[in-house]
Amino acid sequence: MPLILDGKKARDSYKSRLIERVGALSCTPTLALVQIGDNRESTIYIEQKKKFGQTIGAHTEHIHLPENATENSISSRILALNRRDDVHGIIIQLPLPAHLDRLSLINLIDPEKDVDGLTDENQRLLEEGTPRHIPATAKGVSLLLDFYGISPAGKKAVVFGRSRLVGHPAAKLLEMKGADVSVCHSKTEDPEKISKTANILVVAVGKPGLIGARHVKEGAVVIDVGINSVSGAKLEEEIPKRKIVGDVDFEAVQSLASAISPVPGGVGPMTVLSLFDNLISSAEKSCPRQR
Ligand code: NAD
Repeated sequence: MPLILDGKKARDSYKSRLIERVGALSCTPTLALVQIGDNRESTIYIEQKKKFGQTIGAHTEHIHLPENATENSISSRILALNRRDDVHGIIIQLPLPAHLDRLSLINLIDPEKDVDGLTDENQRLLEEGTPRHIPATAKGVSLLLDFYGISPAGKKAVVFGRSRLVGHPAAKLLEMKGADVSVCHSKTEDPEKISKTANILVVAVGKPGLIGARHVKEGAVVIDVGINSVSGAKLEEEIPKRKIVGDVDFEAVQSLASAISPVPGGVGPMTVLSLFDNLISSAEKSCPRQR
């Protein structure tokens, strides 16, 4: 059996440090969560963030706008949040309704408060190797590896997916930690051949069962970022009963991998932790510490 990279255990261990950092501040770190519309999964994620924030003494403010909100009205809310000294982080919960341009809205967020690390400026800083806020899921992957003492330095790492949110920053972070990184995307030819070379394989695509035994080298560390609902639920009310699986066929891969992150309970909890880590860093910059 491979070592199970338990994200809840790692999160709970890192959490005490976040609580200490919040306690040392003269202000309460405050995260504004901007939700547009009523995407059911977004509401679940927002609730998870609010709940975690409470457990570490941070404050969350949920700004819930209607599905048909105009770009202008959302822009003015974001700009108002930028101006508030008592707000240290702003995130726009994705996905957005189809009529909105997500990048132009994200780029309105003050980069200091962009704790999701998605603005052009924060992506550029990461690209240059001097990150301000690292996108939370990518940072979560890195912290999970750290927790289990798995160093990417000198290893061959392969990342499936190259999104701004996960794949691209995860590859960049692994590279910054000294790994030799290859990226596979939807157009990559013969991805099995590339992934078979990986000592560390990170998968962030959103396709259940994409990665099987044919992709994994014996002894590899496999990090499954994917979140896929496979309930077959046809009604909105059935969604809470959905079964969540990752992109990796766990059963097929477990006899080859030396370590593997489960879904759920792997990268997910680390993502929420990392978001609040970014929030606290932002608050540490803008409000003085207590004596
Ligand atoms: P995305 O749709 O923006 O990006 C998917 C990426 O996968 C793209 O770069 C695409 O080129 C690539 N891709 C598509 N088919 C491929 C294939 N056959 N082989 C290799 N690459 C392929 O998605 P995203 O926002 O990056 O999210 C990826 C997955 O991670 C989703 O399942 C999402 O739900 C999940 N996710 C999990 C967390 C978490 O906390 N665990 C957080 C964010 C996203």
